[in-house]
Amino acid sequence: MVLTNKKIQGLVSEIAGDSAIPIIEYIRDKKNVSEFIIADKVKMDMQTTRNILYTLNSYNVATYIRRKDRKKGWYISYWTFNKRRVHDLMHSMRRDKITKLRDQLKREESNAGNFFICKSACARLDFDQATEFGFKCPECGHLLNQQDNSKTIENIKNKLKELEAGNHC
Ligand SMILES: [Zn+2]
Repeated sequence: MVLTNKKIQGLVSEIAGDSAIPIIEYIRDKKNVSEFIIADKVKMDMQTTRNILYTLNSYNVATYIRRKDRKKGWYISYWTFNKRRVHDLMHSMRRDKITKLRDQLKREESNAGNFFICKSACARLDFDQATEFGFKCPECGHLLNQQDNSKTIENIKNKLKELEAGNHC
């Protein structure tokens, strides 16, 4: 898998939101960048910048070291983008998605034509669950309508196909 900009940005925004993209763009070809410089360059306040950086760090996508500033006496963190980790993370996230979709597909297929939805869209239950609630919406009490889920099945299959097609590295 080639790690294009678009892929990196997609993953970064998936784990830390869109505002994490300029941060990664700024530090990706640098090393040990001060958190203050990052905040300044991407024009975000310190707190927001730190929150994003620590979120990225919780996935190990960005790593940091802390050094005491001799003049000011406080600690400053210096950040580095971990490209290698993005690559691994992308693989494991895709695997997780595939597993989840396969489970979902199994559930949809074993309940084909047998899902029940509330007309206010507050609930969608399979047959067993619907029976349990007497075919009434557990949220608002409306009678549930039987739903043909062939579209849902088709959508899941398409998503699976797409994900699995990228599975060659
Ligand atoms: Zn309802």
